[in-house]
Amino acid sequence: MYKQIVADITQNNAATVLVGGGLPYFDTILLKKAGYSISVGTEAMLKNKGGRQICFTDTLKEPLPAPQRGPMLSMGSMHAISHLSKNKKGFFLMIEGSQIDWGAHNNDSAHTIAEAIDFDNAAGEVLKWAQKDRNTLVIITADHECGGLTLHGYDKSSSRPVMHFSSGHHTAEPVPVYAFGPGAEAFSGVYQNTEIYYKMMKLLGL
Ligand SMILES: [Zn+2]
Repeated sequence: MYKQIVADITQNNAATVLVGGGLPYFDTILLKKAGYSISVGTEAMLKNKGGRQICFTDTLKEPLPAPQRGPMLSMGSMHAISHLSKNKKGFFLMIEGSQIDWGAHNNDSAHTIAEAIDFDNAAGEVLKWAQKDRNTLVIITADHECGGLTLHGYDKSSSRPVMHFSSGHHTAEPVPVYAFGPGAEAFSGVYQNTEIYYKMMKLLGL
């Protein structure tokens, strides 16, 4: 839904800080009119001090897979936090490791592993920051499982787990929810994924 997402970002003041790919889908003149300061590449991102900003990590239509694209997810996450955490009222940030799903759809073990490591690195950076901050709740979860993945031991020749995919689609497998920080205890137990929204709203007092 590239078109609709681009329209939402351009017309509806969707967010204060946006980091990601997809530059060819955007009209940068309209973005500037909407008040965004635009940067392209991770180096330029770090210099982007705009109040409202959109940081394109590259100029590609389709982002590179991990690890070829470099640590943009970790860098983008920490750049957004450094900017948003200045707000005295607090902030909400969503970080997605989206290509774990792509790897699993293709039943591609190497891609799935590389993407999971990339996401894990970003989660590690965020948790390190939250541990110091002590006033931010970090929730780590998935919107679904993909591929019906099971692990069957260790393959010495490839230094990887033996991975078996039973599907090329999303499955109904339960997914973990990890929570760290104030309010984390609200996320224990077994519940519908839609509950996460209500739990967050309650904690935010909204
Ligand atoms: Zn998917």
